Amino acid sequence: MKAVRYFGHKDVRVVNDMEIPKPTGEEVLLKIGGAGVCHSDLHVIDEGTITGTVFTLGHENAGWIEEVGSDVKGYKKGDAVLVYGPWGCGHCKPCQQSKENYCDHQSEMAFGGGLGLNGGMAEYMLVPSSRLLVPIYDLDPVIAAPLTDAALTPYSAIKRSLDKLMSDEYVVVIGVGGLGHVALQILREISGATIIACDVTDEKLAFAKELGAAYTINSKDADAAEQIQKITGIKKAKVVIDFVGASSTIELGSKIVSLDGDLTIVGLGGGLYQYNMMGLPFGVRMTNPYWGSRVELMEVVGLARQKKIHIEIERYKLDEAPEVYDKLRAGKIKGRAVLIP
Ligand code: NAD
Ligand code: ZN
Ligand code: ZN
Repeated sequence: MKAVRYFGHKDVRVVNDMEIPKPTGEEVLLKIGGAGVCHSDLHVIDEGTITGTVFTLGHENAGWIEEVGSDVKGYKKGDAVLVYGPWGCGHCKPCQQSKENYCDHQSEMAFGGGLGLNGGMAEYMLVPSSRLLVPIYDLDPVIAAPLTDAALTPYSAIKRSLDKLMSDEYVVVIGVGGLGHVALQILREISGATIIACDVTDEKLAFAKELGAAYTINSKDADAAEQIQKITGIKKAKVVIDFVGASSTIELGSKIVSLDGDLTIVGLGGGLYQYNMMGLPFGVRMTNPYWGSRVELMEVVGLARQKKIHIEIERYKLDEAPEVYDKLRAGKIKGRAVLIP
């Protein structure tokens, strides 16, 4: 079968000679409907953050059950499912709570399919356990694939701050890409706060307005922080969610977040922040959440089935993966690119 393989630092190739795996025990073989293209892949490819292993990329996957191992119960051929991405040990307390994204054994294991183990940018994908599947019922796997990360990650980040997102407060979203464009819709649907969105192009800012942002600011402007404070007034933004994570955006976040606010850094842009007692308002919780839980993924599916969120997708073939990564590097994807076998 065809697959998009990571061979090492800056080396991604489409191959045609992969064997279709055979599921045994608890394993499940999926026929892939769609695999989302996440910016985290670029951190892996361009910065070589995963070493010493060759694997199929794609950690945002959805498809139909093709075949199940002899120990799998409750699924049958043709069922449409998402693949929960962060694969934990399945036994520790966080895993038992469905929070495999915070598995006690994370430091000892590969992060999951597409992040060290074979992922879904292929015609078929082997999932190690049916525990890692979430049914999507009537949703189309092509459209639903990015729910597993582009929607789950912002959903989990927003839920951590939900008690602060009241209707008299402001929330700032930095970066309106794959994750950010869904974050705006989730905030619009489950929070009362007024949304301010930041990105670096007029197209992304116009897109943000369509998705629920009341205000948009170009974060390349030298006075972006002052422009935001003009909107929020002295209370500043109760919550800032940074989907870039560069030094400049973390700095911007620290200037606009309010006393007792949340500065949530989701982006893995490698930014540095120099803590300074006078530079960060008192009481700010600065956190770096990672992905979300299996139960939260079920809730995200609920939001999508109720049509409260939709993923704006650009469709591509597996063969086009290298060009799609170039487009993503250049900030030219609107919403999420999905590879369709
Ligand atoms: P993306 O490329 O689709 O979107 C990034 C957006 O940020 C683009 O719209 C781009 O124009 C904008 N941007 C770039 N520089 C900016 C700046 N200085 N100010 C404002 N906007 C700027 O990326 P994505 O797939 O949405 O991922 C976003 C980040 O989140 C990546 O770093 C990715 O690795 C990370 N990520 C983290 C987790 C997690 O669990 N923590 C999960 C998934 C992705
Ligand atoms: Zn991702
Ligand atoms: Zn675990």
